[in-house]
Amino acid sequence: MLRASERAVREGSSIEEAIVTLSMKIGSPALDPLADRYMEAKRHVLQWLYEHKTTSIKEVHNALYRMLREKYQLPSKLTQDCYRDAIAVYKGWLKSPKRGRFPILKNVSLWLTPKASYTVNFNAMTARILGQEVKIIGYPRNLIKYKDFQVKEARLVKREDRWYLNVTMKKQILIEKEVKGIVAVDINMDLITLGNNKQVIEVPTRLDDAAHFKKLAANLQKKHPRRWKENRRILNRTKGFHKKARNIVQDFARKAGKQVVEEAKRLNADYIVLEDLNRMITRVKNLKKGYRDRLYLMQYKRVQYWIEWQAKKNGLNVVYVNPAYSSTTCPHCGAKMAESGYRTLKCERCGYEDNRDHIAVFNLYGRGSLTLSTAPQMRDVAPNQWGEPSSF
Ligand SMILES: [Zn+2]
Repeated sequence: MLRASERAVREGSSIEEAIVTLSMKIGSPALDPLADRYMEAKRHVLQWLYEHKTTSIKEVHNALYRMLREKYQLPSKLTQDCYRDAIAVYKGWLKSPKRGRFPILKNVSLWLTPKASYTVNFNAMTARILGQEVKIIGYPRNLIKYKDFQVKEARLVKREDRWYLNVTMKKQILIEKEVKGIVAVDINMDLITLGNNKQVIEVPTRLDDAAHFKKLAANLQKKHPRRWKENRRILNRTKGFHKKARNIVQDFARKAGKQVVEEAKRLNADYIVLEDLNRMITRVKNLKKGYRDRLYLMQYKRVQYWIEWQAKKNGLNVVYVNPAYSSTTCPHCGAKMAESGYRTLKCERCGYEDNRDHIAVFNLYGRGSLTLSTAPQMRDVAPNQWGEPSSF
């Protein structure tokens, strides 16, 4: 029962997040009526979610917040935690593959937000929960190890008349690893460009081949505007073209992933720098709605996926950086570059001129190096402190 379960979440760089759940036995907080009302409210929300088939916190808030507060007399923050809690239960049920009986919530379990609903004082070994001060009676022996962790949300649980407070705690730690070398990868429609600050390798994509088949499918549909859905032969051919396009992209992505990691190894790199996909999506959103653009997004995601897969397989790390302006900023002086020819740009300040894709790779390389070298700012929370704190 009183255990500390640890798990480290890889963040793709050498900074990792340690998360720990501390389970502590506490004195009875005299919160039975409130806890019962919370559980009633949670069941209410759970039923509502089931009937409305939603997991949207906004929808729940708009529909139920006022009612829950009045009917169940819960504090504001606890009301919100109550429906977040119910949504988590509902999602868990939706996700479970067997999806047995709908959960009926027998045990008392409350979600608590730090400060708003609870605080812990490890010096005095007390906790303040929804206005009630209680003693911490039992705790994991290695509690001291987590002294400097950040206190996150907790769960107040009652089991057979005994109360427990399960507190989630987090800390960012730096797992020091020496960086041998970095390779940055720029993916665009026609080319995958990768390299470090000295050399660049280009891998042509097969996007045009794939787009060709998409075009054949579109032409076929255009040629038979009414019949194509009913005519089995035309339908099959259309499907065949789409499949062919998809296969080309998928096949290419797999091979490209392998090739990129092989090149990275050849260049003695142990870190691969990729563009942050989330930022990429906002960029791709601005693209036209054509099938070539949609294929591009698919190609992009697939290539990243296979690079990461191959990297993991070969013991290399992947770091994501913000790609904004990476192909128009001067990698030498940071000034804005202006177009000087077909796919070439020139720096207005220092005169450096290069191909757009190479510029992107140099900038991504620089951003990757910066990300990895700014990690030492975290050295005051380095692993040597981790595990051997002096005292409370
Ligand atoms: Zn410049």
